[in-house]
Amino acid sequence: MTQKQRNILVTGGAGFIGANYVHYWLNQYPNDKIVVLDALTYAGNRDNLTPVDNHDNFTFVHGDICNSQLVETLLSKYRLDTIVHFAAESHVDRSITDPDAFIETNILGTYSLLKAAKKVWIDEPKSDGKLPLPHRFHHVSTDEVYGTLEPNAPAFTEEMAYAPNSPYSASKAASDHLVRAYHHTYGLEVTTSNCSNNYGPYHFPEKLIPLIITNILHDKPLPIYGDGQQVRDWLYVADHARGIDLVLNKGQSGESYNIGGHNEWTNIDIVEVVCKLMNEYFIDSSLLSTINFPLSSSELKRKFPQATSAAEGKSESLITFVTDRVGHDRRYAIDATKTNNELGYQPKESFETGIKATVEWYLTNSTWWRPLL
Ligand code: NAD
Repeated sequence: MTQKQRNILVTGGAGFIGANYVHYWLNQYPNDKIVVLDALTYAGNRDNLTPVDNHDNFTFVHGDICNSQLVETLLSKYRLDTIVHFAAESHVDRSITDPDAFIETNILGTYSLLKAAKKVWIDEPKSDGKLPLPHRFHHVSTDEVYGTLEPNAPAFTEEMAYAPNSPYSASKAASDHLVRAYHHTYGLEVTTSNCSNNYGPYHFPEKLIPLIITNILHDKPLPIYGDGQQVRDWLYVADHARGIDLVLNKGQSGESYNIGGHNEWTNIDIVEVVCKLMNEYFIDSSLLSTINFPLSSSELKRKFPQATSAAEGKSESLITFVTDRVGHDRRYAIDATKTNNELGYQPKESFETGIKATVEWYLTNSTWWRPLL
């Protein structure tokens, strides 16, 4: 893909998707400049960016997106022409017990970025009698803003009315509306992407798939909310980064694009898939190796001596049903037809290859996740 050179502010680049995006982007476009702004909350991990630390075009800034003055300084100092905005509080359970941080970062933080972007890219040139600087503000949102679906209802399209149900999704919906308003009112060049559930490397172990993997490795119960029949649409994280790439380079300003892989699973089925894979790795990893997996089954048993159920091929015995999340949405499903047709988007990773790559990453990167438990 050909594209102009970009200088990008990546907010939340030390989090799960942001870090994968930064790795993807510098690999794909090594001449672009990336400045990560991240507050390093519990979910942010500076180590997620170690693979790009020595890259000439990479800079890390520890700071808060709510600090509009800091954002203005960064936009001017590094001549940034693009913002890719990932920074958010992202865990639904935390939004139920303590919504404050979600309102602050997801709503006020997005507002602070929009204000700074408008000032530096539009208002300051205008006050010098000049045209706005070329720019793009890309906002990373979620399918959860559309609410919940009945089992056989059609998947979410970009045309659907927003109907968020949790403080998390409501705060994301509010931020999406602010982004839209800055385009319509002030002419800020914006795009928004609404993506389904991501999985892959560097996923914080409070989220379903890494939680299941790390609990199996400690022979701990695998908690399943309610009846486990909630449906989510899963996408490998690098495919989300590829989708944002297409939106930035081919998407129309003012538009929203759904990103997803037509890959719906019930929570219980996802957990059973992960259990089965873990059993197979612990019993005969040669059956499964997709990316030259370096550890044999006996090495895995030595490395993770607590994983006794997996070693006996019965990880699923750890499944434990627990009280459902309050207001738990039953089903999310993304219809990405617009993004497929207009931008040529297709995920590269199948669920089979993506989930193996993910399990293998957790098995070989315990130094990353152990300090987070
Ligand atoms: P994450 O929780 O792993 O990472 C969030 C990052 O933002 C962390 O590095 C954190 O330190 C940083 N951050 C939080 N508050 C900040 C602040 N005030 N200032 C600066 N940095 C701050 O989240 P994620 O799963 O990587 O999600 C990234 C984005 O993608 C979010 O906007 C989320 O809503 C969206 N999204 C996530 C998923 C998913 O499945 N995880 C799916 C669709 C959309």
